[in-house]
Amino acid sequence: MNKDELWQALLAQVQFNISKANFATWFKNTGVFSKKDGEVVVSVPNNFSKEWLENKYNKLIFKILCSLDDEIKEVRYAVAPKTAQKIGENIIAAGNSAYNEAPQLDFQELKVNKDTNLNSRYTFENFIIGPFNELPQAAAWAVAQNPGLIYNPLFIYGGVGLGKTHLLQSVGNEVLKRNPSKKVRYVSSEKFTTGIVNSIRNRDIDKFKSTYKDIDVLIIDDIQFLSGKEKTQEEFFHIFNTLYEKNKQIIISSDRPPKAISALEERLRSRFEGGMIADISLPDFETRVAILKTKLQEKKESFPDEVLEYVATNIQSNIRELEGALNRLIAYQKLNNQTPSLAVAETLLKSVIFSPKKITNPEKIIQAVSVFYNLKERDILDVSRKKEIVKPRQIAMFFLRQELKSSFPFIGRKFGGKDHTTAIYACNKIAKEAETSENLAEEISLIREQIYRM
Ligand code: ADP
Ligand code: MG
Repeated sequence: MNKDELWQALLAQVQFNISKANFATWFKNTGVFSKKDGEVVVSVPNNFSKEWLENKYNKLIFKILCSLDDEIKEVRYAVAPKTAQKIGENIIAAGNSAYNEAPQLDFQELKVNKDTNLNSRYTFENFIIGPFNELPQAAAWAVAQNPGLIYNPLFIYGGVGLGKTHLLQSVGNEVLKRNPSKKVRYVSSEKFTTGIVNSIRNRDIDKFKSTYKDIDVLIIDDIQFLSGKEKTQEEFFHIFNTLYEKNKQIIISSDRPPKAISALEERLRSRFEGGMIADISLPDFETRVAILKTKLQEKKESFPDEVLEYVATNIQSNIRELEGALNRLIAYQKLNNQTPSLAVAETLLKSVIFSPKKITNPEKIIQAVSVFYNLKERDILDVSRKKEIVKPRQIAMFFLRQELKSSFPFIGRKFGGKDHTTAIYACNKIAKEAETSENLAEEISLIREQIYRM
């Protein structure tokens, strides 16, 4: 199958998997730019489609491509030069022609260095720090300054889309920035496994291993994929030891801590646990807003706070999805020359926001709590120390923490400018009491129901 046939076959299948509207919006004017050495570069008409395909459809595209051609190992996306595009009525493309005033080639993904596998777009400079990722960021930064000498290995874990790859790659880029002669290599666990499997098949495993022996910084992403792959683990263990004994830096990421990776050899697990382990947790509401604002600033855009808060309230556990939503709003803005209002944002993001039932915000929480205890919202937010108000206020604080992952300083400020220690105290107190008091536990569950009904 040549590259155009391949893409036609893919489109035919994609159509069955997604809605008509989505298909028309995101797959119009796409094609295959090149197909070489197992790597397919998909050409897309603009940055928005690129982000969208990467974030939302990459899995589907990859799966279908692999089923059509089993040599395919990797898919990348690149914005095609404007002249190469057919002129269609596709609204996004139309909006984008204004956007792409100066037709810029965005072969960003192609900026991946073939030796190091590092993508220059991932840097510490554009990595936003909040309470949820402070520790791993600090550890990664320290490692980048002194590879091999501080935390070895450095093991970073956290959920999907929370910045593991970004952070790992930043270390690699930073090391090279400081010292271009260092040998850095980034490799995904899948690629590593494929390498091992192929070299076993070709009987040149020693050659494969020798390519790792002079590396100064080895970065292995998503190590959980080695789970159950004994032969790969064994070879990795040898490579690990060789480098470790020479004080070379090893950095590993995973979606879970070492002890939770099933079918991982004990000796590897204890190696991982012998270094520094840091987790990326979920960004709280404030940090999510800050991430949106920073990303907007980078793109020289600005949206009303209520729109950003809407996005941050509804997308809680994935920074990639936050970015995707933002790009969608920016697309709207470019297209209509108009800042999206809250109502527009709600409509545009309907499909992105996954579980509408599980959505709330501070206002709804405060409203639900005050209705439940028959108080005025003003009272809850105020400084009164009356007993009948103190408890509902603490419960409201508790919900802000539980349901929205709001930070303690944010909670403190929200409730009459109190100190973060007051918020910590309130949240702990309610959590603890709910464990022993059935009444309180019952109240909490009733209020929670109300919150999600508002
Ligand atoms: P993971 O590897 O954990 O699945 P990624 O590193 O691929 O997540 O991050 C997903 C997207 O979110 C990327 O575009 C990345 O640049 C962005 N991102 C994640 N964390 C941050 C952060 N702290 N600051 C800025 N961008 C971030
Ligand atoms: Mg990743």
